[in-house]
Amino acid sequence: MSIGENLLHIRELIAAAARRAGRDPETVRLVAVSKTKPAAAVDEAARAGQRLFGENYVQEFTTKAKEVNAPVEWHFIGALQSNKVRQIAGLVTLIHSVDRLSLAQEIERQWAKLDAVCDVLIQVNIAGEATKSGTTAADLITLVKEVAALPHLRVRGLMTMPPFFDDPEGARPYFRELKRLAGVVAAEEIPGVAMEELSMGMSGDFEAAVEEGATLVRIGTSLFGEREYHR
Ligand SMILES: *Cc1c(COP(=O)(O)O)cnc(C)c1O
Repeated sequence: MSIGENLLHIRELIAAAARRAGRDPETVRLVAVSKTKPAAAVDEAARAGQRLFGENYVQEFTTKAKEVNAPVEWHFIGALQSNKVRQIAGLVTLIHSVDRLSLAQEIERQWAKLDAVCDVLIQVNIAGEATKSGTTAADLITLVKEVAALPHLRVRGLMTMPPFFDDPEGARPYFRELKRLAGVVAAEEIPGVAMEELSMGMSGDFEAAVEEGATLVRIGTSLFGEREYHR
Protein backbone atom coordinates (compact mmCIF):
# COMPACT_ATOMS: atom_id res chain seq x y z
CA MET A 1 0.00 0.00 0.00
CA SER A 2 1.12 3.56 -0.67
CA ILE A 3 1.70 6.15 2.03
CA GLY A 4 -1.49 7.87 0.89
CA GLU A 5 -3.52 4.66 1.28
CA ASN A 6 -1.96 3.94 4.67
CA LEU A 7 -2.78 7.46 5.78
CA LEU A 8 -6.41 7.10 4.75
CA HIS A 9 -6.70 3.78 6.55
CA ILE A 10 -5.06 5.08 9.76
CA ARG A 11 -7.31 8.13 9.77
CA GLU A 12 -10.36 5.88 9.50
CA LEU A 13 -9.17 3.71 12.41
CA ILE A 14 -8.49 6.80 14.54
CA ALA A 15 -11.92 8.22 13.77
CA ALA A 16 -13.64 4.91 14.53
CA ALA A 17 -11.79 4.57 17.85
CA ALA A 18 -12.72 8.13 18.77
CA ARG A 19 -16.40 7.50 18.00
CA ARG A 20 -16.37 4.28 20.05
CA ALA A 21 -15.27 6.38 23.01
CA GLY A 22 -17.85 9.08 22.31
CA ARG A 23 -15.15 11.51 21.20
CA ASP A 24 -15.05 13.90 18.28
CA PRO A 25 -12.42 12.48 15.84
CA GLU A 26 -11.28 16.06 15.22
CA THR A 27 -9.81 16.13 18.74
CA VAL A 28 -7.16 13.56 17.78
CA ARG A 29 -4.12 14.65 15.77
CA LEU A 30 -1.90 12.22 13.91
CA VAL A 31 1.84 12.79 14.30
CA ALA A 32 3.46 11.04 11.34
CA VAL A 33 6.75 9.66 12.70
CA SER A 34 9.22 9.95 9.85
CA LYS A 35 12.43 8.96 11.65
CA THR A 36 14.83 6.98 9.43
CA LYS A 37 12.62 7.81 6.41
CA PRO A 38 13.81 10.18 3.66
CA ALA A 39 12.51 13.68 3.00
CA ALA A 40 10.77 12.29 -0.08
CA ALA A 41 8.54 10.14 2.16
CA VAL A 42 7.57 13.25 4.14
CA ASP A 43 6.75 15.09 0.92
CA GLU A 44 4.70 12.12 -0.28
CA ALA A 45 2.69 12.07 2.96
CA ALA A 46 2.28 15.84 2.72
CA ARG A 47 0.86 15.48 -0.80
CA ALA A 48 -1.65 13.02 0.68
CA GLY A 49 -2.75 15.66 3.17
CA GLN A 50 -0.53 15.03 6.22
CA ARG A 51 0.90 18.22 7.73
CA LEU A 52 2.28 17.18 11.13
CA PHE A 53 5.45 15.09 11.46
CA GLY A 54 7.48 13.78 14.40
CA GLU A 55 11.22 13.20 14.55
CA ASN A 56 13.51 11.59 17.16
CA TYR A 57 17.09 12.32 16.23
CA VAL A 58 18.39 15.89 16.10
CA GLN A 59 20.99 15.43 13.38
CA GLU A 60 18.69 13.46 11.12
CA PHE A 61 15.86 15.90 11.73
CA THR A 62 17.72 19.13 10.99
CA THR A 63 19.12 17.67 7.76
CA LYS A 64 15.71 16.37 6.67
CA ALA A 65 13.87 19.56 7.59
CA LYS A 66 15.97 21.42 5.02
CA GLU A 67 15.26 18.82 2.33
CA VAL A 68 11.49 18.67 2.70
CA ASN A 69 9.71 20.88 0.18
CA ALA A 70 6.17 20.81 1.57
CA PRO A 71 5.15 23.30 4.25
CA VAL A 72 4.99 20.94 7.23
CA GLU A 73 4.91 21.25 11.01
CA TRP A 74 7.43 19.35 13.13
CA HIS A 75 7.24 17.93 16.63
CA PHE A 76 10.28 16.56 18.44
CA ILE A 77 9.30 13.28 20.12
CA GLY A 78 12.57 11.55 21.04
CA ALA A 79 15.05 11.57 23.89
CA LEU A 80 16.75 14.97 23.79
CA GLN A 81 20.23 15.87 24.98
CA SER A 82 20.48 19.39 26.36
CA ASN A 83 23.50 20.22 24.21
CA LYS A 84 21.43 19.61 21.06
CA VAL A 85 18.41 21.77 21.94
CA ARG A 86 19.95 24.80 20.21
CA GLN A 87 19.80 22.98 16.88
CA ILE A 88 16.03 22.48 16.98
CA ALA A 89 15.13 25.86 18.48
CA GLY A 90 12.41 27.50 16.43
CA LEU A 91 12.07 24.48 14.11
CA VAL A 92 9.52 22.53 16.17
CA THR A 93 6.13 23.58 17.50
CA LEU A 94 5.98 21.00 20.31
CA ILE A 95 8.54 18.93 22.23
CA HIS A 96 6.90 15.75 23.57
CA SER A 97 9.83 14.50 25.62
CA VAL A 98 10.66 16.90 28.46
CA ASP A 99 11.60 14.65 31.35
CA ARG A 100 13.98 16.68 33.53
CA LEU A 101 14.48 20.24 34.69
CA SER A 102 17.96 20.63 33.16
CA LEU A 103 16.49 19.97 29.70
CA ALA A 104 13.67 22.45 30.30
CA GLN A 105 16.20 25.07 31.39
CA GLU A 106 18.13 24.67 28.15
CA ILE A 107 14.89 24.96 26.13
CA GLU A 108 14.22 28.13 28.15
CA ARG A 109 17.61 29.56 27.20
CA GLN A 110 17.26 28.79 23.50
CA TRP A 111 13.66 29.92 23.06
CA ALA A 112 14.35 33.09 25.08
CA LYS A 113 16.96 34.02 22.45
CA LEU A 114 14.21 33.73 19.85
CA ASP A 115 11.84 35.73 22.04
CA ALA A 116 9.39 32.85 21.58
CA VAL A 117 7.54 30.35 23.73
CA CYS A 118 8.05 26.61 23.31
CA ASP A 119 5.10 24.30 23.90
CA VAL A 120 6.15 21.13 25.70
CA LEU A 121 4.75 17.90 27.06
CA ILE A 122 6.14 16.20 30.13
CA GLN A 123 7.13 12.60 29.44
CA VAL A 124 6.13 10.17 32.15
CA ASN A 125 7.71 6.73 32.58
CA ILE A 126 4.69 5.08 34.14
CA ALA A 127 6.10 1.57 34.33
CA GLY A 128 9.43 2.87 35.68
CA GLU A 129 11.37 1.03 32.99
CA ALA A 130 15.10 1.66 33.28
CA THR A 131 15.52 1.75 29.50
CA LYS A 132 12.94 4.49 28.92
CA SER A 133 13.11 8.19 29.59
CA GLY A 134 10.46 10.04 31.51
CA THR A 135 9.88 11.37 34.97
CA THR A 136 8.28 9.09 37.53
CA ALA A 137 4.66 9.63 38.47
CA ALA A 138 5.89 10.53 41.97
CA ASP A 139 8.09 13.37 40.68
CA LEU A 140 5.61 14.62 38.07
CA ILE A 141 3.95 17.46 39.99
CA THR A 142 7.28 18.87 41.16
CA LEU A 143 8.68 18.82 37.63
CA VAL A 144 5.56 20.43 36.13
CA LYS A 145 5.77 23.24 38.71
CA GLU A 146 9.45 23.83 37.98
CA VAL A 147 8.93 23.85 34.22
CA ALA A 148 5.86 26.08 34.53
CA ALA A 149 8.02 28.71 36.24
CA LEU A 150 10.15 29.08 33.09
CA PRO A 151 8.72 31.99 31.06
CA HIS A 152 9.59 30.65 27.59
CA LEU A 153 8.00 27.22 28.07
CA ARG A 154 4.35 26.31 28.20
CA VAL A 155 3.31 22.91 29.54
CA ARG A 156 0.48 21.64 27.35
CA GLY A 157 0.07 18.07 28.59
CA LEU A 158 1.73 14.68 29.08
CA MET A 159 3.35 12.00 26.95
CA THR A 160 4.11 8.35 27.65
CA MET A 161 5.61 5.29 26.01
CA PRO A 162 4.25 2.16 27.69
CA PRO A 163 6.21 -1.09 27.84
CA PHE A 164 6.03 -3.19 24.69
CA PHE A 165 3.19 -5.72 24.49
CA ASP A 166 2.27 -8.02 21.62
CA ASP A 167 -1.35 -7.47 22.57
CA PRO A 168 -2.35 -3.78 22.28
CA GLU A 169 -4.68 -4.27 25.24
CA GLY A 170 -1.56 -4.62 27.39
CA ALA A 171 -0.82 -0.92 26.94
CA ARG A 172 -4.32 0.24 27.83
CA PRO A 173 -3.77 0.51 31.63
CA TYR A 174 -0.78 2.81 30.98
CA PHE A 175 -2.87 5.07 28.73
CA ARG A 176 -5.58 5.18 31.37
CA GLU A 177 -2.98 6.02 34.00
CA LEU A 178 -1.55 8.89 31.92
CA LYS A 179 -5.05 10.36 31.62
CA ARG A 180 -5.53 10.01 35.37
CA LEU A 181 -2.18 11.71 36.04
CA ALA A 182 -3.18 14.59 33.74
CA GLY A 183 -6.26 15.02 35.93
CA VAL A 184 -4.13 15.05 39.06
CA VAL A 185 -1.86 17.73 37.55
CA ALA A 186 -4.84 19.78 36.33
CA ALA A 187 -6.34 19.72 39.83
CA GLU A 188 -3.22 21.50 41.10
CA GLU A 189 -4.24 24.53 39.00
CA ILE A 190 -0.63 25.50 38.37
CA PRO A 191 -0.55 28.90 36.62
CA GLY A 192 0.19 28.62 32.90
CA VAL A 193 -0.19 24.84 32.82
CA ALA A 194 -2.83 23.29 30.54
CA MET A 195 -3.45 19.55 30.58
CA GLU A 196 -5.08 19.52 27.15
CA GLU A 197 -2.75 17.20 25.25
CA LEU A 198 -2.16 13.49 25.85
CA SER A 199 0.51 12.10 23.52
CA MET A 200 0.13 8.33 23.58
CA GLY A 201 -0.30 5.49 21.14
CA MET A 202 1.98 4.16 18.38
CA SER A 203 1.44 1.81 15.42
CA GLY A 204 0.67 -1.22 17.58
CA ASP A 205 -1.69 0.35 20.07
CA PHE A 206 -3.05 3.71 18.89
CA GLU A 207 -6.68 2.60 18.80
CA ALA A 208 -6.63 1.75 22.51
CA ALA A 209 -4.85 5.06 23.15
CA VAL A 210 -7.53 7.03 21.31
CA GLU A 211 -10.24 5.19 23.23
CA GLU A 212 -8.46 6.22 26.44
CA GLY A 213 -8.18 9.89 25.50
CA ALA A 214 -5.11 10.45 23.31
CA THR A 215 -5.08 13.81 21.52
CA LEU A 216 -1.78 13.08 19.72
CA VAL A 217 -0.94 9.63 18.34
CA ARG A 218 2.61 9.05 17.08
CA ILE A 219 2.59 6.62 14.18
CA GLY A 220 5.56 5.57 12.09
CA THR A 221 5.64 1.95 10.91
CA SER A 222 1.96 1.67 9.95
CA LEU A 223 2.28 4.76 7.80
CA PHE A 224 5.76 4.59 6.27
CA GLY A 225 6.53 0.86 6.56
CA GLU A 226 9.15 -0.92 8.62
CA ARG A 227 12.29 1.00 9.50
CA GLU A 228 15.51 -0.46 8.11
CA TYR A 229 17.80 1.02 10.72
CA HIS A 230 17.75 2.98 13.92
CA ARG A 231 19.69 6.24 13.65
C1 LIG B 1 9.47 5.53 16.72
C2 LIG B 1 8.52 6.18 17.68
C3 LIG B 1 7.14 6.17 17.47
C4 LIG B 1 6.48 5.45 16.30
O1 LIG B 1 6.54 4.08 16.49
P1 LIG B 1 5.84 3.06 15.44
O2 LIG B 1 5.70 1.83 16.22
O3 LIG B 1 6.75 2.94 14.29
O4 LIG B 1 4.53 3.66 15.07
C5 LIG B 1 6.34 6.84 18.37
N1 LIG B 1 6.85 7.50 19.42
C6 LIG B 1 8.16 7.54 19.67
C7 LIG B 1 8.66 8.29 20.85
C8 LIG B 1 9.04 6.87 18.82
O5 LIG B 1 10.35 6.90 19.08
